[in-house]
Amino acid sequence: MIYFFEQNCNNIRHTSSYRYHKKNKKRMLKIQKLHKSYPIGDSSLHVLKGIDLSVEKGEMVAIMGSSGSGKSTLLNIIGMLDEADEGNYILDEVPIKNLTEKKAAVYRNKFLGFIFQSFNLINYKNALENVALPLYYQGLNRRKRQEKAKFHLQKVGLLDWATHLPSELSGGQKQRVAIARALASEPKLLLADEPTGALDSNTSYDIMAFLQQLNDEGKTILIVTHEKDIAAMCKRIVRLKDGIILEDNFVKQVRATTNV
Ligand code: ADP
Ligand code: MG
Repeated sequence: MIYFFEQNCNNIRHTSSYRYHKKNKKRMLKIQKLHKSYPIGDSSLHVLKGIDLSVEKGEMVAIMGSSGSGKSTLLNIIGMLDEADEGNYILDEVPIKNLTEKKAAVYRNKFLGFIFQSFNLINYKNALENVALPLYYQGLNRRKRQEKAKFHLQKVGLLDWATHLPSELSGGQKQRVAIARALASEPKLLLADEPTGALDSNTSYDIMAFLQQLNDEGKTILIVTHEKDIAAMCKRIVRLKDGIILEDNFVKQVRATTNV
């Protein structure tokens, strides 16, 4: 009898999750009424004031806005580096709320890849070691880590630079290593905070061409930028102002190669 009851429950659960899955198959993330404040002394700074945003798999979205408009705050919440005060956030069908630090780390590792303006490479590790490092946290053995890291360094065209330290690489090469590192854990969603902010425009377009190629292959990418030409290389532009989304438009993508 107990067995029958359990089986029944499982059936019900399966049916509803199946329906949910069918309906949301193409959705990468959904954010509803998201708020975030930072405490400043006795008062607080209300940075995000009710953000609603839905992104489907395969999109390439630019998040624009002037300095201080909350772009990084939003991206960090999407990337589970920070938590919202209020609102809902569902990432690939998983509600992201009140997760233990351990669970959050697992999702971050499994779902998300990060690219930053300042590359955030480890200075005393070479290119290959930098790419391989996050794989350690995925529990892969040394041989598998090396194999995967090499594959992704090759993908960004830097296999010949595998044993070089970051200090021996150009800005564009460093960002490519950072992209390889982000890709190595095969994230479903790639998050880039001003990825071209420290690069000259030719190198920026080169990096954008690579990100476009990844998106062509199906990777979902969110890019924070305050540069119009970089945003135009995405397929959708979300504009933040005073803590809300002022505009959200699909655009005709400018291919990066046409600018080089
Ligand atoms: P953007 O990336 O668009 O330049 P941010 O999201 O970094 O903007 O910051 C939005 C606002 O929140 C800014 O006024 C910034 O000074 C403030 N801020 C960001 N992070 C913190 C923090 N950890 N503590 C206090 N204030 C912060
Ligand atoms: Mg920022």
